[in-house]
Amino acid sequence: MPVLVMKFGGTSVADLARISNAAEKVRREVERGYDVIVVVSAMSGKTNELVGWVEQTSPLFDAREYDAVVSSGENVTAGLMALTLQEMGVPARSWQGWQVPLKTSSAHSAARIVDIPRANIDQKFGEGMRVAVVAGFQGISPEGRITTLGRGGSDTTAVAFAAAFGAERCDIYTDVDGVYTTDPRIEDKARKLDRIAFEEMLELASLGAKVLQTRSVELAMRYKVKLRVLSSFEDTDETSGTLVCDEEDIVEQNVVSGVAYSRDEAKVTLISVADRPGIAAAIFGPLAKAGVNVDMIVQNISEEGRTDMTFSCPVNQVPRAREAMEKAMEAGEVNFRQVVADTDVSKVSVVGIGMRSHAGVASTMFEALAAEGINIRVITTSEIKISVLIDRKYMELAVQALHDAFGLENAA
Ligand code: ADP
Ligand code: ASP
Ligand code: MG
Repeated sequence: MPVLVMKFGGTSVADLARISNAAEKVRREVERGYDVIVVVSAMSGKTNELVGWVEQTSPLFDAREYDAVVSSGENVTAGLMALTLQEMGVPARSWQGWQVPLKTSSAHSAARIVDIPRANIDQKFGEGMRVAVVAGFQGISPEGRITTLGRGGSDTTAVAFAAAFGAERCDIYTDVDGVYTTDPRIEDKARKLDRIAFEEMLELASLGAKVLQTRSVELAMRYKVKLRVLSSFEDTDETSGTLVCDEEDIVEQNVVSGVAYSRDEAKVTLISVADRPGIAAAIFGPLAKAGVNVDMIVQNISEEGRTDMTFSCPVNQVPRAREAMEKAMEAGEVNFRQVVADTDVSKVSVVGIGMRSHAGVASTMFEALAAEGINIRVITTSEIKISVLIDRKYMELAVQALHDAFGLENAA
């Protein structure tokens, strides 16, 4: 029988009534003739609560125990979903990651999926089971420890199962009815897109649009998974939601397709760094080793052999960045006068594959921000995106101004 993957996010399984609603959607697909793999998240708010408990218990926690704790939310919803389906008369059972087994790397809290052997689940489908309910976000390391895939990781579980089982489609059910030109919670005029290209979705996700985890889009692109985002709160059919697809399958391409933001960024500046060959490696090597995800980088003009070096990273990594730089200074690897961190900045980005062939996107973006009196702190560009770092208090205003400036309320 053809296989369908259906993933339900936290708000879509927030309580027993929501689980029942989701199970009803699953039952309909079973009646249409699919064997279904359901991937569930923890009930909304649960993972945050679990993370909070870990941090309170042990600020410099053992990542293996962090994963043991935070993966547990998904176990509850997987079991409840299987029970709900059974009550509806649908043959279903739950699978925790290790039972599949969903094999991952050992990078706790940010593990990568390595393999999903099909044998166990296929055997049960062969015996008449119609729905395998899989706990999202979790797997097992080569050492036999529980791992998690990073926040939002159930999306990636879903796409990986769709690839492994050659699913006809991977439907991501969430609390919005598709991918929008920007976060509809920030901009009322945001428009739902019927289709979005993989590459654009990849950029939007990695620049902060949390509707899909970045890695899930990467996997869908690599394994040609038909990926769709749609609402669990509405009646849906084959045409609902947003299809993430190849660029060639989009008839009318917008120059800019979306605006993304990442609220909690920080700007760190090393003041008066001795400017010499190898200095960038001496700074960014230790930062990488300390696990700091450096994003934007600016090096100022050098004066009398000294320069300022600025980079951005997530706010919660600033203490680690400071520590790494101070150690590098003590070890004589770098020499600077001071580290200054501005922790009140956000990143706002515009994304569109049409930028490849259209000039003027950057100037439109900068003019729109200037018209609102928003100062740009750092700029980076790539072929299909432009990002700016701005003061956090202007983040929402910037998203709205850019949405207007690129006419996205008329996007389709
Ligand atoms: P789930 O719990 O179902 O995984 P998430 O909260 O992870 O859901 O992702 C859905 C949320 O993503 C939406 O509620 C919306 O606020 C946010 N979002 C951000 N950018 C976008 C966008 N461009 N289109 C749709 N939703 C977006
Ligand atoms: N429950 C996990 C999280 O909140 C995984 C997910 O929902 O995708 O990050
Ligand atoms: Mg999510």
